[in-house]
Formats: sequence, structure tokens, C-alpha cells
Amino acid sequence: MDNYEVIKALGQGTWGVVHLARQKSSPDGGGGEGRLVALKKIKSERPEDGINFTAIREIKLLREFKHENIIELVDVFTTPDKAVCLVYEVADTDLAKILKNRAISISLADTKQHLLSLLRAISACHERWILHRDLKPDNCLFLKDGTMKLADFGLARMYGTPKTRLSPQAITLWYKPPELLLGASEYSSAADIWSVGCIFAELLLRRPFLQGNQTDISQLDTIFTVFGTPNETNWPDHSALPLCTQGLLWDDCPPTVQFDEIFIAAPQDCISLLRSMLVLDPNKRFTASQCLSHPYFMNDPAPTPKENLVLSSE
Ligand code: AMP
Repeated sequence: MDNYEVIKALGQGTWGVVHLARQKSSPDGGGGEGRLVALKKIKSERPEDGINFTAIREIKLLREFKHENIIELVDVFTTPDKAVCLVYEVADTDLAKILKNRAISISLADTKQHLLSLLRAISACHERWILHRDLKPDNCLFLKDGTMKLADFGLARMYGTPKTRLSPQAITLWYKPPELLLGASEYSSAADIWSVGCIFAELLLRRPFLQGNQTDISQLDTIFTVFGTPNETNWPDHSALPLCTQGLLWDDCPPTVQFDEIFIAAPQDCISLLRSMLVLDPNKRFTASQCLSHPYFMNDPAPTPKENLVLSSE
């Protein structure tokens, strides 16, 4: 912590407060102003257990991994009060703020650029067997130059779900796939793709797509209204999942709303890709690389060049 001068709080997140800080000495040993960074201090929920070294080792692995669309983890260290501090490059805004700001319009070409960046990041991670586990618009950060940077990689796995509710957005279920809501304990890359599909839909609708009401069951009901209930044809393995083996049953019901009626302004190639991501059966969902090869990305309109994206209304 001695190496950083805290400037101000940037925001409250799932794991604690994030501060803007300046590195006191530049890593190259040269003089001049140190780099601006975002400091995320993660308090241990049970300090008596000590520092989670496995978590630190895993985070350090992520440091080796550099990608245009993944936020750079500059440093990791622990504090005397057993908190872990993650030091990131500083972003300017995030997709949640952009979506909320009605003064910013999001065109179909902007949406294509956002989805392209997100899929490139996720594809690179999945190739290395790294899963995100908590994809949502808040975790899609943007640098000043318009580059999208995915943040919070792997944290959900390392730290689980926080017991204390720090941020109302933090524990949203709206991006959670049906297999996890039904109790699947194995998390696969297909789960991340479901979340990407939800973000894609939100870019098109300008509101969260599948807004359940705080409980897993309500979230499942919301999903099944749009996609129909799972059965042996559309999702053969679902009945082996914990909630189903415990006796939770839904009446066989087709979708009660039509996809095309929800996304009336979206072109067919857009809807076709969205449908390939949002499939109940995780085994039938497109992979990130299949999504990137979809004609949607070759067709007009071309993705907006990142430097032309409007990120704020000021
Ligand atoms: P998080 O813990 O990731 O949910 O972040 C909490 C708050 O800090 C949010 O308002 C984020 O926008 C902000 N934040 C997180 N990481 C960064 C970063 N690298 N640069 C700038 N702001 C950030």
C-alpha cells in the first residue's frame, strides 16, 4: 500500500471500495509522475482464516494474460489486515453507465462493436480454460479511447458470493444461466455465453432482458416464459440437475412470447446470433468462437470503430 497514493474513491463494488490511486514510483525506476491505477481492496470475510493464497496464485496467473479487451492487472499485494489488493489500469466508464444514460444513443453498429469486443475477450479466456462467472454490463469497462476491457475475471470462483450486500447490482441474477439456477455445480464456458447473450439482448432493448424478481425460481420462471419450459427434447439432461431431482417440476409449456416480437427493431442476423447464445441446453449453445464466425459480424452495418463510440454525454 505504501507504493500507492490514494486519490479518491471510484465506487463501491461487490468486494469492497475501489479507489483511484497513483503509483509513487514508476516500475522502471525512472523519475516523473507515477501511473494512475484503480485499487481494489478485497477484505477477507473471515480474517481468522488468513490470506487466501490459492486466490492470490490464481490472480497472479491472470497477470500473465494480456489481451486488448481484458483489463490489465498491474499488481497484487496483501495488506497487514489480511486484505488482498488488486491494482488495475484505470477505466473511464462501464457499459452499465452507458446503458443507463438516456442521452447516449446506442446504434446497431455500436452494439456490434460492443459484442465483438466482449466475445473476443471471452473467446481468449475460454481458449485458456479461464471462465468469467460474473458477466454483466458493470464488468464491461471502457478506456477513454473507446476500448472495452472486461474486468473481474475469476473473482466469483475465488471468493464465492459475498455474504454482505455491498452493491445492489452485485448479486443480480439476470445474467445467470438456467443450468446454474437449477443447481448445476459444474460451471462451463457455456454459462458465460448465456450471460453474453443477456448483455447482447440488453444492448438491443436498452433494458435488462430477463428481469426475474430476486429469487432463483422467479428468474427461472422469467426465462421459461421466453424460452418455454425444459423437456426431454429441448434439454435432455436437465432432469438430472439438483433442483429437478429434488422434485421441482414445471408444466410443459411452450414460449408465451415470440422472440421476434420482443426484438422488433433488430435485423434477422442479429436475432439469429442471439438465439444461438440463449439456448436452454448449455450443450447446444454456441461457443464464443462460433459466435465470432457468425455472418452477423460480416454483414452491414460494420461495427463502429471504437474511437467513434460515444461513452458519455458530457
Ligand atoms: P467493482 O468492484 O468491479 O464492482 O467496481 C466498483 C466500482 O469501481 C464501479 O463503479 C466500477 O466502475 C469502479 N471500477 C472498478 N474497476 C475499475 C477500474 N479499473 N477503473 C475505473 N473504475 C473501476
